[in-house]
Formats: sequence, structure tokens, C-alpha cells
Amino acid sequence: MKLDVDVLRYLSKDDFRVLTAVEMGMRNHEIVPSELIHRIASLKHGGTYKVLKNLLKHKLLHHDSSKYDGFRLTYLGYDFLAIKTMVNRGVFSSVGRQIGVGKESDIFEVATDDGTVLAMKLHRLGRTSFRAVKSKRDYLRHRSSFNWLYLSRLAALKEFAFMKALEEHGFPVPNAVDCNRHCVIMSLVQGYPLVQVKELQNPDTVFETILGLVVRLAEHGLIHCDFNEFNIMIDDNENVTMIDFPQMVSVSHRNAQMYFDRDVECIFKFFSRRFNLSFEEQPGESDGSDVDSDETGRPRFSSIKKVTGFLDKELAASGFSRKDQDDIEKFTEGDVEKDLDSDGEGTGDEGEGRIPEASPDANIKHFDSLCLVEQHEPIVNCDDGGEEEKQHQ
Ligand code: ADP
Ligand code: MG
Repeated sequence: MKLDVDVLRYLSKDDFRVLTAVEMGMRNHEIVPSELIHRIASLKHGGTYKVLKNLLKHKLLHHDSSKYDGFRLTYLGYDFLAIKTMVNRGVFSSVGRQIGVGKESDIFEVATDDGTVLAMKLHRLGRTSFRAVKSKRDYLRHRSSFNWLYLSRLAALKEFAFMKALEEHGFPVPNAVDCNRHCVIMSLVQGYPLVQVKELQNPDTVFETILGLVVRLAEHGLIHCDFNEFNIMIDDNENVTMIDFPQMVSVSHRNAQMYFDRDVECIFKFFSRRFNLSFEEQPGESDGSDVDSDETGRPRFSSIKKVTGFLDKELAASGFSRKDQDDIEKFTEGDVEKDLDSDGEGTGDEGEGRIPEASPDANIKHFDSLCLVEQHEPIVNCDDGGEEEKQHQ
């Protein structure tokens, strides 16, 4: 998705006020009635109509008059709200090129005032898994639009919380900088996704490091659940960084063993195909660790001394609750399974993690400064009285 920050720069105080009003209305309405937007935004002299037209023109809103006259936010509209909040907080001040397209996210470079380049991940749940979501209509309670935003926000919150907790426990992950709505700001990892790496100086060492991470995660009570060559970054010195955490689960999850084995399998498969590592008939426990392995060197989940509770205690402290975890798990579980069904080594130029073709300036460092100094006044009088309001806060 193109992120035209030029538009963002020229949006007025009133534009943001109305955009925020639509976001608030979406707590209780899939399509927010125009009349309600008027009331929430409470612009003088019927100014809301003109603003809505402008927001629609820039594709920040979607108009729907099938049941009644109303609007909903588009992902772009939601992006702008998050970006504006972050810029106002001083987290970054310019947006650069797109550096990644994930299954359910877009990743951009952003830069701070002092020129530090960071990575901005905008979560887009539901973008590629429409079918999976359709089958979860019950769960979504027919409020699909808002729930895209809600679930994307949860995914961002979870990713941020996990990244922070993992970093504190010495795992090689990006530094978690900030989080707002569906947007996570983190340090930029130098290097490339492993899927793009054709040759390694020390494939055995890299393999062991990566496998060691899966085991150490489990010892900390966690399973990545999407641990593969797309979500492992590697730099020129063959240092490894893991990314992408919205689907992680606890080792006490009912399918924990399966998820763990699957993460391990992905790594074995990839290293055997890409770097011709052979895993046949290796003696178990050869690495001197406490963890048992089978005859091919695959660690046995049952033999890992797991510390459960990590997830609940440390993550709850970070604002990501058990209920949030349950909500997002319900949604993401099927997707992870579906992804792994689509086996294949990956060529590095298709699918997740690729640099998007529509990035004409892929090799040029170019940042659009945002300079958003105008703050819109907070909207206070927005009570639409819905029960679900708290749930979606
Ligand atoms: P998704 O959840 O959609 O799979 P990821 O977090 O895996 O998203 O990111 C997609 C791609 O974006 C990665 O494969 C990687 O190329 C790039 N990317 C993500 N985070 C960073 C980062 N912090 N630094 C550099 N590149 C990143
Ligand atoms: Mg990924």
C-alpha cells in the first residue's frame, strides 16, 4: 500500500478531528452514521461535510450508503492517525521507503530528528486471510471492519510487549521503541531475511544458534510459532535477529508441542535444502545441553525445562492482558497452520519479506519530513453509550 505522506502533511486540524471522530464511532459501528460523526467532531458551521469529502478523496475513509449514510476508516486513515500520534510524541519525524511486505503488515523506514533510522511496522490483519476470517464471523460478531482495526491493534500491542520482554531477557530481537494503534516502531535490523541468503560462511554455527533460540524460547515459556527463514534476519557477520511476534504462544498452550516441533522442522528443512546440512543418524544429546534430542538432532519438547508464567506475568505488566492474548490467538491460530501448509523453500523474491516492486527508490535513502506541529484538540464529548466501548479501548 502506498503511504503518501504528502497528503498527511497537508491535513488540517479539522481533518484529523473528523478522522478521530470516525475512529471513535467505529467502536460501536462498522459503518459510522454521518450524523454521529457530525456530533462527535462537533465542528462549527456544518464543517464536517466538507472535511469528510476531503478525507474520502484521499482514501482515508470509505463511504457506505447501502443501509444508511456512513463512513468507516480505511487502513490508510488508521495509518495516518497512528503516524500523527507518533510524530507528535517525537518518536520519529519523517517516513522513508517501504522495506518489507509481510503476510499481514507493511514495513517502512522512518527517521528521527537526529537522523536515526528506525523500522515502522503497520499491522494489517485480515489482508491476506479473508477466508480464514470469514469462517470466524461468529467471533467477529459481524463487525468486520472495526475488527480489522481492533485485531491489528492487538497484534501491534502483542508484538511490542513480546519484543520488549524478549529484549530484556537477552534475546536477539529489535529494540522495541514505541507502539500506537496498529503501529510498532522498532530499531532497524541490519541485514537480510535468511530466505534471501544464498551462502553462509558457517552454516553449522548459524543453524545451531537458531535452533538454540527455539529451545531457549521454550525454556522461557514461549514458542514463536512462525519461526522460519522469513522471520530470521542475518547480518554480514552472520549474527542472527529474530522478528515477527504476534503469533507467539505459551508452552502451556494445548498445541504447544505441535507448534514447537513445527518451528524446529522449519529450521531443519531450510538448512538441509539451502545449505545441504545433513541431519541423519546424529547421536542424540551431542551438543552437551540438558535438552534431549532424537536421532536426527531434533530437540525433544518434553525434555525442555520450561518456565511457565513468563507470558502472563511479564506481558500483563506491559499492558497486554490474558484476554488480549486469547482474542488474538483465536484469530491467528488458523492462519499459522495455513501458512505452513504452503510449503516451499522460497526464492527470496516472492511472498513474505520481499522488498516490494513498487518501491522505485529502493536503494536511495529518501525521507519525507512530516513536520506535523498542529495538534487537534482532544474530543471529549463522544459517548455513544455502547457496551462494547470498553472492550475496544
Ligand atoms: P509479517 O508479520 O507481516 O510477516 P515481519 O515482521 O516478518 O512481518 O516483517 C516483514 C519483513 O519486513 C521482514 O521479512 C523483513 O524483511 C522486514 N522487517 C521487519 N522488521 C524489520 C526490522 N526491524 N528491520 C529491518 N527489516 C525488517
Ligand atoms: Mg514475517
